[in-house]
Amino acid sequence: MDIADLTRGVIAGERRALARAITLVESARADHKAQATALLEALPKDRQALRIGLSGTPGVGKSTFIEAFGMMLVERGLKVAVLAVDPSSTRSGGSILGDKTRMDRLSRAEGAFIRPSPSQTHLGGVARRSREVVALCEGAGFDVILIETVGVGQSETVVAQMADIFLLLLAPAGGDELQGVKRGIMEIADIILINKADGDLKPAATRTCADYAGALRLLRKRPQDPEEIPKAMMVSAAENTGIEDVWQDLESVRAWRAEHGFWDRTRADQARYWFEEEVKTALLSQLQTPQARRALAELGAAVAKGETAPSAAAAEFLAGLSQGEASNA
Ligand code: GDP
Repeated sequence: MDIADLTRGVIAGERRALARAITLVESARADHKAQATALLEALPKDRQALRIGLSGTPGVGKSTFIEAFGMMLVERGLKVAVLAVDPSSTRSGGSILGDKTRMDRLSRAEGAFIRPSPSQTHLGGVARRSREVVALCEGAGFDVILIETVGVGQSETVVAQMADIFLLLLAPAGGDELQGVKRGIMEIADIILINKADGDLKPAATRTCADYAGALRLLRKRPQDPEEIPKAMMVSAAENTGIEDVWQDLESVRAWRAEHGFWDRTRADQARYWFEEEVKTALLSQLQTPQARRALAELGAAVAKGETAPSAAAAEFLAGLSQGEASNA
């Protein structure tokens, strides 16, 4: 495969080139990884999409929202990519998230591109690939990239590290207590959307929205937040109400952060974060080679018997690792 041609295709926004590039990025093969790295390096650095993280438990209405929100953007002439980060998805191409059949209109829209989560059980692997797919979509000239994740565990934190703005979708609650939403997720969210604010659910949505607005006021104000952020607001993805307001708010947050230097700073911090993650991952993988495992087992046994001190054994192990590196090079 000619990487220069593929790169040109991606930059020109060709769908087939983008899909092939994503396949390359998602491949576990070492030669594909090297090609993917070269391709990512060759992408223009001056193209920036608005990267929106979106989380919510299953059934809250994420796909319905993405369909409504995405269609609104496409109708405005914007190019929209939808990606999913779902570490629990092991079926290839058929994750519950980002499933094309659940976003019927958007998946057929000219300006939209939908990609399900890479199938892997390990969050780190899914994260790296998703981040690189975000970079590919940005290089391909998409205006908005929606990164969807399911509202459990660590995946929000990971998505927040690749998003400019984070939305948390909630359903109207029956009682008047908060829905056990973890504080960490509340702190990541820029805007909490109470979905299904329609029909019989409207009064509950109004109460829930007021509860969250109150809870958000108790959170520490972050420097990158304009006056009105974080906020809670009501939408109905099914009836298409409040969707444009969400977009207006996102645009104003983006403009404010850009004007006050937080946009670039956040991106710089995120780049540094991912660089360090890559280094850590590469170092950890060096511990998984057969030689490293053998050395760990042998030195571990010597330490257990009291023949060697832990620190001396560790120094010997690390010296062996770097020698192994040199002889592999
Ligand atoms: P996801 O699992 O978070 O992607 O949720 P879905 O988008 O698949 O929606 C789950 C269910 O909630 C479906 O039956 C939707 O029709 C319904 N739903 C989604 N958005 C709304 C809404 O705004 N109002 C109402 N009443 N139902 C909705």
